[in-house]
Amino acid sequence: MRILLMGPPGSGKGTQGVRLAQALGIPHIAVGDLLRAEVESGSERGQAFAEIMGRGELISDDVITELITPVVVAAGRSGGYILDGFPRTLVQAVNARQAADELNVDADVVIWLDVPPRELIDRLVGRAAEQGRADDNAEAVSRRLQVYEEATRPLLDYYKGRGILAEVDASKDPAVVNRDLMRVIESRRPS
Ligand code: AMP
Repeated sequence: MRILLMGPPGSGKGTQGVRLAQALGIPHIAVGDLLRAEVESGSERGQAFAEIMGRGELISDDVITELITPVVVAAGRSGGYILDGFPRTLVQAVNARQAADELNVDADVVIWLDVPPRELIDRLVGRAAEQGRADDNAEAVSRRLQVYEEATRPLLDYYKGRGILAEVDASKDPAVVNRDLMRVIESRRPS
């Protein structure tokens, strides 16, 4: 099954994505993790990513699409994927749809994790203390939330229009969220 897991920063996409991937036996593809791996490699491209991510901005649509498309196409052809963190802009969504359509690997369902904004800030600040992520400082957090509102939230309507959107209340306990996600997935499994 091909699943897009979407939602604001701090909504639990990573945590839930890992759990779902284990339960379903398909890969969890996290764009942020791929980018952080490139940063860790010390490459020139990684240094450029670090600077942009540290400010809470998005990497350009072209670069992201080029990075992620081959990974998603390969997974789509061999059993499916949980894609976390892509698309984040309308341009990315339209590009991805075009590529996926041509190859018959388009998403079956888009699941949106809903969390009230106030709780997101608490979660992100908590995560900063635990994991020390470079983009979890107060300034970057507030910019990431703003970028989410401006660039990513409009995708809710885009996917609603395509009839493949499901929304899940992700402010609940992670185990409950996981159960709710599994229910949505079971109900949307292609026959
Ligand atoms: P994440 O771990 O998903 O919160 O992503 C961390 C950072 O990676 C984001 O704040 C962006 O700077 C960058 N990033 C992740 N996914 C994308 C994307 N689809 N488009 C552009 N930048 C991205």
